[in-house]
Formats: sequence, structure tokens, C-alpha cells
Amino acid sequence: MSQEKYRLKDILPIDFSGATELHVHLGGSVPIYRLWEMGVQRGIRGVGDSYEDFIKLLHRAADKLENLDDYLQVFDTVELIQAGPQAIKDSVVIAINGAYRTGGMIRLAPGGDGGDPEPAFSITQLELRFNPLKRTGAHQTKSGISGLYDVDRIIRAACQAAEESEIAYRGKIKTGFICCFGRDMSWETNKLLAEKISIWRKTQDKVVGIDLAGPESVLKLDNDKDLAKMADLYDLAAGDKLGRTIHVGETPHITIDTFINTINAVKATRVAHPIISAKAYWDKKDSRGLKLLADKNICCELCVKSNLLTKAISDAQEYKRFIDTLDEFGIRYTFSTDSPALQLTTLGNELQFLLDNDAISPEQILRALDTAKEVSFI
Ligand SMILES: [Zn+2]
Repeated sequence: MSQEKYRLKDILPIDFSGATELHVHLGGSVPIYRLWEMGVQRGIRGVGDSYEDFIKLLHRAADKLENLDDYLQVFDTVELIQAGPQAIKDSVVIAINGAYRTGGMIRLAPGGDGGDPEPAFSITQLELRFNPLKRTGAHQTKSGISGLYDVDRIIRAACQAAEESEIAYRGKIKTGFICCFGRDMSWETNKLLAEKISIWRKTQDKVVGIDLAGPESVLKLDNDKDLAKMADLYDLAAGDKLGRTIHVGETPHITIDTFINTINAVKATRVAHPIISAKAYWDKKDSRGLKLLADKNICCELCVKSNLLTKAISDAQEYKRFIDTLDEFGIRYTFSTDSPALQLTTLGNELQFLLDNDAISPEQILRALDTAKEVSFI
């Protein structure tokens, strides 16, 4: 393998002003050692018997993951540590600073701190996504599930932390939030979230988009009734003001028909991990999914290491095939990290990985970086 055939730093234009990172979850953006400290400080139960245990539990590594459901397992713990307005504020400040400081580094230290004195670039535009209702410290009460913290305070705390970071950075980094519905939340709870987003979007311009995340095995949206309900939630939350993206097509739980119907129902302009669209074409010569993405100019949010960890894509060579297939159909794409802190990766690391494995050309990387700026909801 041609190690470092291209160095990421060398292929970027000299005047490259900074990268846009548009697919990163707040739950995966706080380094593990910081989550440990927050957990200890806040007295969170179930954080593990030791620091070593905790790192082992949270690190999303290939040897212990088989699929998306495995990958998502630890996020309950992270969400509890990040529950409440103060913890959200801390997390947002850490995530923004982490993106700016380490986003362009090729390597991280084992605890997740930056280990590269010469980053290839900084992230200067960051879309952070999270589910505010999953930061309310939900617990069982006599009348059902209830949050300890107020969701409005959580959304406000996140926006405030982003504003304060922007002031500290003197505008060198811009941040926006994408609020995620949960495939693992009840319709009732998702509706409550849609109502909250619809109120906050009117007064808070840091809320820039909506998304649906979580296990595809739990809510497939494979029937008209569920699709109509999700479409209503997207319309209620976003109106014509917020950007619309969606996680769909990462696992075999989603058929190509469901993929197409879901994109159409929620009127997405971006889609995360649309792997089924390529697989249907490769395996069954069914190009309907790819044609839909091309015809509607929908941008694909690709998270390389995450897709390898969940085994959605088998290796770097299959990733090359995926990228080339999108190009064959004239479909736009961007690269992101999904959960940089838990995967111990960075945007720089993901791009260098593709270069090292001859899975991408410098031209494709530069185009994807430009596309990220164009399609950003900020
Ligand atoms: Zn994601």
C-alpha cells in the first residue's frame, strides 16, 4: 500500500480557510477522558469501575462492533453524563474547541486529546447534532417516563454556549445545531420534540436543521402510516426555515423502496449514510435510489470510519467503489466524522485514511470540502 502517497496538508490550497464539518453528534464529540471527568464530578451511576473500564466501554473500536445497534449502545451513558443545562454547555464548548483545535489533525493521543503539532487545517464551520430530549435525564416515574431537566433550558444552554464560543473565537468558527428525532423514541416523545423545535427556530438562529437518528432496526418507516407521521413531524419542526437531513439506508433493515419513500416523505436535502442506494445498484442493478439523489441534488453525508465500524461498508476499497459510484451518477457528497471523540478520529484522519488507501483522489477530496461549505445549513 502506498503509505502517504499524498499528504493531506499538501493537497489543500495554500489559502484554504478552514473546513466545514456537518455530520457530528454531540454525544460523540466530547473526548472520553473529559466524559469520565464529567461523570465523576456529577456522580453519574454506571460510569464503570475504573477509568480503564470506561475507556474500553466507550471507545468505538472495530473488534467489538458488528453493526449499527452495537455502535449505538454506549450513547445512553454519554447522554446521561451530558444531561442538564450545565453539562450541555460544557459539552458544546468542548466540542467546538475540539473541532477547531483537533479537526485537522491526522492523529490523536489515546485519551482523545490532540497529538499533532501541525494540523492540516482547522474546522471553522461546525454543525453539531443532538437530541435535546435525551439530555433531560429521563427516568421512570409513577406516571411514566419523565425528564429531570427542562428541555427548553437545554436547547437554550446549547445555543448560549455556541454564541459564547463564537465570541471567544472572534468569529473564527461558526456553529449551528441540528436537532435529532429518535428512531428509539415514542411518537409522542418525538412529537413533543417537534413542537419544541418549532418554537425555538423562531427566535434562535443557532438551531439550523433537523435529523432522524438512532437504530434503523427499531423504527424502519416501512409503511405509509409511519411515513406520514414522520413527514408531519418534519413539517412541524422545520417549517420552511430549517434544513432537513436524515440518517437512512445504513443497514439492511432499510430496503431501497423504504429508502426512497423516506427521503421523499421528509423532503430531505441531505442524507446520512445512504449506503443502500449503492448496494441496490451493485447487487441488483437497481439504480432508483441513486437516480433520486441525483435528480433532487441531495447531498450525501459520508462518515468513513463510522461506516466501517458498523460494517455498513467492508473496507477502504469498497469505500472507493461507493465514492466512485456517487460520482458516476453526479451525486454530491461530503466527508464527516460522526463521533470523532468516541472513534478516536478526526476529519483530517478520515481524509488521510482514504488517501493512504488509494480510495480517493485529491480532486474528490477538494470537491467534497467545497460541497460541505455549499450545503451547510448554517
Ligand atoms: Zn450520524
